Amino acid sequence: MNNYTEKQVECPHCGHHITLTLDASNGSQEFYDDCPACCHAIHLNMQVDHIEDDIKLTIDADDEQIF
Ligand SMILES: [Zn+2]
Repeated sequence: MNNYTEKQVECPHCGHHITLTLDASNGSQEFYDDCPACCHAIHLNMQVDHIEDDIKLTIDADDEQIF
């Protein structure tokens, strides 16, 4: 019921604040999102901590622009 968590992250490229809705029901995962301000890809790494019932989000600038 309460698997969705909102996290606010900062774009590593331009510093724009983005609010993401994370779905923890699938466990830890990596994904990419595009910054709505500068359109660069942001590499996000979501770690679901079932013991603390918390989500940790690691953000990376994806420096190699393959896209
Ligand atoms: Zn940006």
